[in-house]
Amino acid sequence: MKTIALVAHDHKKPDLIAWASQHKTALLTANLVATGTTGKLLAEKVGLEISCYKSGPLGGDQQIGALIAEQKLDVLVFFWDPMNPAPHDPDVKALLRLCSVWNIPVACNVSTADMIISSPLFSDPDYKPELPVYDR
Ligand code: PGA
Repeated sequence: MKTIALVAHDHKKPDLIAWASQHKTALLTANLVATGTTGKLLAEKVGLEISCYKSGPLGGDQQIGALIAEQKLDVLVFFWDPMNPAPHDPDVKALLRLCSVWNIPVACNVSTADMIISSPLFSDPDYKPELPVYDR
């Protein structure tokens, strides 16, 4: 079972709720985690069972980053807000950076999220993204 993390900044939460409603059937096949407010809203409005970490500005992004470093995350859907500054911008950058470090598929907008979740690789239990090798 794949583990998917779902995160949206405040102005992007409606987009994520709409996207998750549209893809509820696929999401039900996955283990879902989220930052605090995003996860609470998805549980209430979409009816998904979801493990919630702390709210993003209180460390939730970093908790999801820790999952990546521990190789416990398969996909990140992260609708960050390009039009408004976030108090925890360093955490946002750190989370996106870890996706690059660990070769984690990450969707920062609806069309990318659509493509990831409808990819044959998403439902292929044998697909394992290549792990990077860093000689340090
Ligand atoms: P939130 O955090 O789900 O608690 O709003 C999102 C974020 O800003 O990372």
